[in-house]
Amino acid sequence: MTSRKRILITGAAGFLGSHLCDRFIKEDFHVIAMDNLITGDLRNIEHLFKLENFEFYNHDVSKYVYVSGDLDYILHFASPASPIDYLKIPIQTLKVGSLGIHNLLGLARAKKSRLLIASTSEVYGDPTVNPQPEEYWGNVNPVGPRGVYDEAKRFQEAITMAYHTFHGLETRIVRIFNTYGPRMRLNDGRVLPAFIGQAIRGEDLTVFGDGSQTRSFCYVDDLVEGIYRLLFSDYAQPVNIGNPDKITIKEFCEEIIKLTGTNQKIIYTELPTDDPKQRQPDISKAKAILNWEPKVSRAEGLKITYDYFKSLPEQEIMHKDFKYYNK
Ligand code: UDP
Repeated sequence: MTSRKRILITGAAGFLGSHLCDRFIKEDFHVIAMDNLITGDLRNIEHLFKLENFEFYNHDVSKYVYVSGDLDYILHFASPASPIDYLKIPIQTLKVGSLGIHNLLGLARAKKSRLLIASTSEVYGDPTVNPQPEEYWGNVNPVGPRGVYDEAKRFQEAITMAYHTFHGLETRIVRIFNTYGPRMRLNDGRVLPAFIGQAIRGEDLTVFGDGSQTRSFCYVDDLVEGIYRLLFSDYAQPVNIGNPDKITIKEFCEEIIKLTGTNQKIIYTELPTDDPKQRQPDISKAKAILNWEPKVSRAEGLKITYDYFKSLPEQEIMHKDFKYYNK
């Protein structure tokens, strides 16, 4: 009989979910992976299917979730997560952050599992303070295009904290800032795949607005390490995980032009509604509580990610709408 700890990972076929599956398999957990494949892609986890300590369920966690046997941990990472996704599938975005988490909290209670939820820097909205500490309550437009994501994630934090307070459930909340790396969807609309895709296809690079808005990009391995440490900490309040190395989108575009060696030019288009003007994590808490800080520089991380995108099938790189949604 194996005594492996058992962990349920929702959104397992997505960018972050699949990297978390890899990490927990590496740590010799039994991984129960769940995804409805709306934005996830089985190719991200197909290398795990042959393992005896990995199982996969094609299921929408907004519907009742059943898992047999013991369950020690739950990571809730199922959610559309890019601005284009939540514009295309706003109702699913709201449901997975509300009905979905409610189902998982019920499961966690029944199984006495510890549950960690993926929250986001979007809970800070278009922040008026920079960098953003966890104590900042945010500046969110509930009825704007990002409201479906931001409010779902805020509700998700609230209901998770309520189960912690009223039912004594063991919960953890990670607020994830912009993260990148292999397995991002080339067509998910986020700035990094957008710029790299444009450069590889020989298109001009589209900077939204004047490019003075700032972001701070964290390499996926650093994020996974932070999440791993948070899960096994005893801290139930939200913790920011991200890379504080801030850059303007215009400068970022110039870095991608240099990295890819493209001759294309930058074109400036309209700034989307409610696009945050600044974003940078204050990671004092993660440093103090988890002894965590990012290790991978943007130069190193971008190189690895560019190599990944270049290795994709040409058909996928050239056709922007390739395999947009599996359903
Ligand atoms: N952006 C851009 N060009 C693109 C895609 C995005 O200039 O082709 C900008 C976008 O307006 C935002 C930033 O890049 O200011 C980051 O966008 P992303 O969608 O990656 O995530 P966000 O941080 O806004 O959630």
